[in-house]
Amino acid sequence: MTLHPGLNPPEFSTRIKSIENNIVHLDETYCYPRGGGQPGDRGYFSTEQGTKVSFAEVLPGNWIGHPIEDSNEFETGQDITCHIDQVRRNAHARMHTAQHIVSALAEDIWGAETVGNQLTVENSRVDLLFEDKSVFDPDKLVTTVNEILKRNIRVNVHEWERNKIIQHEQMRHTKFMDRIPASITELRVVEVEDVDLCPCAGTHVGNTSQIPSIRFLGKKNKGKGRVRFAYEFEI
Ligand SMILES: [Zn+2]
Repeated sequence: MTLHPGLNPPEFSTRIKSIENNIVHLDETYCYPRGGGQPGDRGYFSTEQGTKVSFAEVLPGNWIGHPIEDSNEFETGQDITCHIDQVRRNAHARMHTAQHIVSALAEDIWGAETVGNQLTVENSRVDLLFEDKSVFDPDKLVTTVNEILKRNIRVNVHEWERNKIIQHEQMRHTKFMDRIPASITELRVVEVEDVDLCPCAGTHVGNTSQIPSIRFLGKKNKGKGRVRFAYEFEI
């Protein structure tokens, strides 16, 4: 399967592999299933006969699931075209790359580790773990992130071997890799050149110039050393 871009994913043709409990499984899909703090794609299926059926948030599983309201609309083996909601996907891709930069700079400036994150179309939050959270300055984080965003930095997606990822000196967030089955030997790595490098299966922009500036929305204490930092885009 070729890699689709994170922004403006094109429609694609495929076949219905199975339908179970109003969940459609496709022979292949480019839809992003909910995971890693990023919501799943939504969109619609169309057929040559003119049928159009929306699918709700795409879900992970052994086989990626596309929930529809009425499974009588389709049958197994049918050819369909899948249209991903590009506005929603583009918002998530911009938010996700911005989140990587937020997390990278919080680590570089204060040594704060990202211990959770949740993206939406409108805003995002990142849970940061500090040794001493009194040092955290949200305005400084926003200013520094926005300086990076303005620099037109390329964002590259790699498929790298597990060992190369674990041994790479600049690689962040490798702790969770213990939970990935050993049978998976190659993983996606997302690189914001000279800013961040980490394993991630999410969708991303191709250049930081495609991301608006961020604006501080608020912060909350989430227990010892933990701060929830929330932001939105300027436009
Ligand atoms: Zn990510």
